[in-house]
Amino acid sequence: MAKRKLTKQQTTRIRQQQDKLRRQSKNEPSAADTQAGLLISHYGKTSLVETMQQDIITCINRPNLPPLVCGDHVIWQPGEKQNEGIIVAVNERKSELARPDNQGRKRIIAANIDQILVITAAKPELNEGLLDRYLVAAELTGITPVIIFNKTDLLSETEFTGYLQRLEEYQDIGYQVIFASCKRQHGLDELHHCLHGKTSIFVGQSGVGKSSLVNNLLPEANADTAEVSEATGKGQHTTTTARLYHLPGDEGELIDSPGIREFGLWQIDKAQLTNGFREFTGYAEQCKFRNCLHLNEPGCAIQQAVKEHKISGKRLDSYHRILASLGD
Ligand code: GDP
Ligand code: ZN
Repeated sequence: MAKRKLTKQQTTRIRQQQDKLRRQSKNEPSAADTQAGLLISHYGKTSLVETMQQDIITCINRPNLPPLVCGDHVIWQPGEKQNEGIIVAVNERKSELARPDNQGRKRIIAANIDQILVITAAKPELNEGLLDRYLVAAELTGITPVIIFNKTDLLSETEFTGYLQRLEEYQDIGYQVIFASCKRQHGLDELHHCLHGKTSIFVGQSGVGKSSLVNNLLPEANADTAEVSEATGKGQHTTTTARLYHLPGDEGELIDSPGIREFGLWQIDKAQLTNGFREFTGYAEQCKFRNCLHLNEPGCAIQQAVKEHKISGKRLDSYHRILASLGD
């Protein structure tokens, strides 16, 4: 063995010292001081972070960090007071939900969502055009949409069959559809199953039963809300800012807020619209013109697919209506 070769322990010790010096010069925390956490809500300059021990602490961000949102996986270090911390890093996001702010700039409102549950019902009447808008927005965000048809208790057997047929068209193109009644507690097992192990959001038209479903799934949500108010002293914000909830029994996570529930109505990009219709994508590549809008262009593979009943004409109409509603 060569004389000057360092032992493993020596090398480790030197590395640790170098590390320490580097941290001191950069004012960085040591790995031992930092911990992973889940950002459950964000208000102005502060965030509520759930620690690995499931405590909730109030954190401020390191100034060099981008704006953080509900659902972010963060690294934090303890602050001066107990239950306070500083967020020093954020993990890469697997998905982002955004909406325009008052100035029309894109603002991210939540991160790391796995699925978007689009709630529909017979009252207010199922509106496929609106459902398609939600589905398009979800597809373009890259988050899996699932369709929930709530309030089945309001329907006679014949009426129910009618809705079943209408929604079968969505099952045929690969969407999961769950029939439920919040009131009669029907179909909720399937809903629980769908939520299991994932982070979900509920979206949909007003009156379809989103609050009822959320309250049903989160019997303790009110207690949770009170706890947020205590921690931040800003209870009034709890209704507008996105908040992450754990479903009882650690079944999954739900992110909710009025802003989140409205998602889908605006989040559509004209140039990308074809990609929002999942059954169009295979055909669109075969259109004669690369920028084909599937209106009246010759050699349109989508128009052709509709003629051959491979794509539903209703979905193409829906595409046209959404296209017409979008500005340039
Ligand atoms: P949101 O606007 O989507 O949050 O809808 P809400 O949860 O406020 O529900 C709107 C109305 O529908 C309320 O009067 C609820 O009681 C009612 N509702 C919710 N779920 C059901 C259901 O499964 N069956 C029936 N019959 N009514 C329901
Ligand atoms: Zn085309």
